[in-house]
Amino acid sequence: MAQYDVDLFVIGAGSGGTRASRIAAAHGAKVAVAEEYRVGGTCVIRGCVPKKLLVYGAHFAEDLADARRFGWNVPDCDFEWTTLRDNVLNEVKRLEGVYGETLVNNKVEVIRERAEITGPHGIRLASGRELTAKYILVATGATPDIPTCPGHQYGITSNEAFDLDAVPRRIVIAGAGYIANEFAGIFHQFGSHVTMVNRTDVILRGYDEQIRDRLIQIATTKGITFKFHAAFEKVVKQEDGSLLVHVTGDHEPIACDVLMFATGRRPLTDGLGLESAGITLDERGAIPVDEDSKTSCDSIYAVGDVTNRVQLTPVAIREGQAFADTVFGNKPHRVDYDCIPSAVFSHPPIGAVGLTEAQGRNKYGSVKTYTSDFRPMKNVLAGRNERSLYKLVVHAETDVVLGIHMIGPDAPEILQAAAIAVKAGLTKAQFDETVALHPSMAEELVLMR
Ligand code: NDP
Repeated sequence: MAQYDVDLFVIGAGSGGTRASRIAAAHGAKVAVAEEYRVGGTCVIRGCVPKKLLVYGAHFAEDLADARRFGWNVPDCDFEWTTLRDNVLNEVKRLEGVYGETLVNNKVEVIRERAEITGPHGIRLASGRELTAKYILVATGATPDIPTCPGHQYGITSNEAFDLDAVPRRIVIAGAGYIANEFAGIFHQFGSHVTMVNRTDVILRGYDEQIRDRLIQIATTKGITFKFHAAFEKVVKQEDGSLLVHVTGDHEPIACDVLMFATGRRPLTDGLGLESAGITLDERGAIPVDEDSKTSCDSIYAVGDVTNRVQLTPVAIREGQAFADTVFGNKPHRVDYDCIPSAVFSHPPIGAVGLTEAQGRNKYGSVKTYTSDFRPMKNVLAGRNERSLYKLVVHAETDVVLGIHMIGPDAPEILQAAAIAVKAGLTKAQFDETVALHPSMAEELVLMR
């Protein structure tokens, strides 16, 4: 008789948990995965995927306006939020089904209830069922972290933004990170008046300063309002259902119909029972793991946002894959966290890989930078006075390109390909040797002198 009920019990069927389950099962392990909400996790259900679909939807506002300059007789168009919302929610439902089927097809038992750890090999389900597992993988992700000022309960998070009954006339977005900037663009394009409220004057911390400044400049020109050095004091609900947001600093209270918190996400470990296996959280509430994603308990591993290493889906997927290959596939390997490309799907979007200018200077003393500040051809004809900015950060002695930073149409699409060159350690001279592909925006990457 087997010593354990399953070889692997995974808690959380998001990006990391699903990949780990599927690959471990493919390696011959008996696998069960518990999911208390919906299979697919944050990325598929209420993150990257529905967000990107809203970004596409939002972009039509500008595309339809620009179309006239390209000769199209576009009548005045209405935007119907509920049509887009429902189509997006249906697509999410379809993907959820695909994820579930993939697990089942790979002989993974999908348990649709909450699971809790009771010891190094013990699991208790919400139904009371108890199981034992040779290994446990925690892949529970993260959840919105909201500043607790009086009245904060009147606010929503991005979780709820996908289900709104209507586009708010006025929305206050708290925070200035990924989610805040992406939803600011989305709601602005749908016609909301957007006010972004940030406790400092730094948006998108970690991105290159010139690129961040360009986004602020473009967003402000479009009509998005930024309130900087404004911490939340209180939120007051008005008789008509609207909200009055009081912030610190020299700012009048801000009236809005929806307040959305986008103030970061914290690892989701509430009530997981980690203490029963002797696992203590770090100061940020994350599960500490080693390079193989192993916790302080030999039989328990953790991948994805719950470990707060890099909160990105492709990283969680790689962590899940490496875990399954290493523990069950006799193919040990580790995730390489160097040069991870990232994007902000703001309007216009940002793409980045490698070191920013400031990070390069801190690390190497001095770096060379090259920038191309240009108005894309399409914007010129459209009469859209919106300039793109591309920037290369280059090692002063070796000529190796240390980082690429871009803001402009399709920046994430272009950046993904360019990231291969940075990851490969190519030099600026090798960029320059590459013949430009004309006419394109991407050609700027090989034309910077
Ligand atoms: P971010 O960490 O990107 O941004 C959080 C923002 O909220 C920052 O501006 C931060 O300010 C501010 N903030 C934090 N705490 C408080 C507080 N107590 N009061 C007021 N402001 C506060 O988090 P997001 O919520 O935008 O996104 C969560 C994660 O999800 C990201 O880290 C990212 O990895 C991932 N994500 C990735 C996307 C992508 O790849 N395109 C899209 C969406 C999310 P400060 O800078 O001063 O700390």
